[in-house]
Amino acid sequence: MQVLDIILIEDEDGDAGLIRYSLKFSGGEHKITWLKSLTALDRHLATLDAAADVILLDLNLPDSTGLDTVYRCKAMAHGTPIVVLTGHDDMDFSIRALEAGAQDYLVKNQLKAENLLRAIRYAMERHQLEQRLQQSEELMMAAIEGGNLGIWEWDLKTDACYTSKRLRKNVGFKADDDTVPQTLTEWMTRTHPDDTDAIYEALKRHVKGEEKRYQHEFRLKHKLGHWVWVFESGHVVSRDAEGNPERVVGIQQDISSRKDMEEQLRDLAMHDPLTGLLNRRSFMNAMDREYGRVKRREDYPASILMLDIDHFKKVNDTHGHAMGDEVLNAFATTIADELRENDVFGRLGGEEFAILLPDTPLEGALKVAEKVRAGVETMQVNLNGHLLGITASVGVDTLRADDHHPDGALARADAALYTAKQTGRNRVCQQIPCGTLDAPA
Ligand code: GH3
Ligand code: MG
Ligand code: MG
Repeated sequence: MQVLDIILIEDEDGDAGLIRYSLKFSGGEHKITWLKSLTALDRHLATLDAAADVILLDLNLPDSTGLDTVYRCKAMAHGTPIVVLTGHDDMDFSIRALEAGAQDYLVKNQLKAENLLRAIRYAMERHQLEQRLQQSEELMMAAIEGGNLGIWEWDLKTDACYTSKRLRKNVGFKADDDTVPQTLTEWMTRTHPDDTDAIYEALKRHVKGEEKRYQHEFRLKHKLGHWVWVFESGHVVSRDAEGNPERVVGIQQDISSRKDMEEQLRDLAMHDPLTGLLNRRSFMNAMDREYGRVKRREDYPASILMLDIDHFKKVNDTHGHAMGDEVLNAFATTIADELRENDVFGRLGGEEFAILLPDTPLEGALKVAEKVRAGVETMQVNLNGHLLGITASVGVDTLRADDHHPDGALARADAALYTAKQTGRNRVCQQIPCGTLDAPA
């Protein structure tokens, strides 16, 4: 049998004697420290290296009476379970003693050894559980605080929606704001119109039991008017006798910064880092979409320009690669200035560029091409005080509904570009026939 370290706080010699007598015959050589007041307990605790196993506490002491004794004892020795010794068989009072922080109670006139030991063991177990629960609550709170988590609870019968302070703060509500939505329906009026259906859908799937939990990312309107991206997760915590869900509880997290990073990553993946233009992959996606329109709509024209800087190698060889990069940048900016908002400008690689012109027939495309060519010709790039001029060749063609592959127009424009290079550069060509604006050299 485990030998227990017991503190007995009892000012009546007779009662104390009875308890010590009971413990003595309980079968173990327990260590009992007998004190007569809370002041004495305070002094005694200061001398201890390790907490006692249990405190047996009489509530009426010279320096404290009633429930106050429990509060004060608990504050002094919060690491030790307390069994309250009450003089009367008063259920209400005993329960209040438990609520005040005692782990169990014993009525003094029922002080048989087995009762006493059972109460002590029960108090110790209960105390251990309480401490574990408190630790796990502290851990959960740390996770909630650290992750800026808001908490919500939705009552399906009344539609009432409780939200924690943190959740409300994330979307700009002050603590004393009385315009905070009180129902799910009211909250839904603050979600982004594009997200509302999907939220209801996700909630429905979980409530019907099709999904283990409800999880969703969506936009909530901040009090200042902007949208805040949030992630929500929750699950049904109670059902009625028929098994219908009654309450859903969950967390909500502000994920704006993650969304920003995702957007930056998407942006990086879509654009060429040097010029900021669309890279080959996203340019080809735009081509695919435009081919979709060309195939669906009769008489819808779209064209493409392929561009390549003339003798660019010489720029690099003469001025160095870094200066070559500056020229590429200036080239891209100059051309972008000549284009309409709907035009799609991409860098396919190296010094090869392409422009997709939606809703533009060949004649229009040839005009744009000439404007671009002339713009490049008149451009002057300042390389450390040295002004450099360049020229570019342009190949033009249209997207055709019978192209089997979106590369079709690209390949024809590329062939036209080759013709422009072959016939003297700094010119615009369409594949057949070669619409030279200058006579071939
Ligand atoms: P052409 O008139 O026939 O087009 O002659 P070119 O010298 O422009 O043609 P070529 O394709 O032989 O050379 C292209 C050069 O572009 C070679 C390569 O070093 C350079 N280049 C490709 N990408 C970059 C880049 O990102 N930065 C710089 N500075 N140079 C690049
Ligand atoms: Mg080239
Ligand atoms: Mg070139």
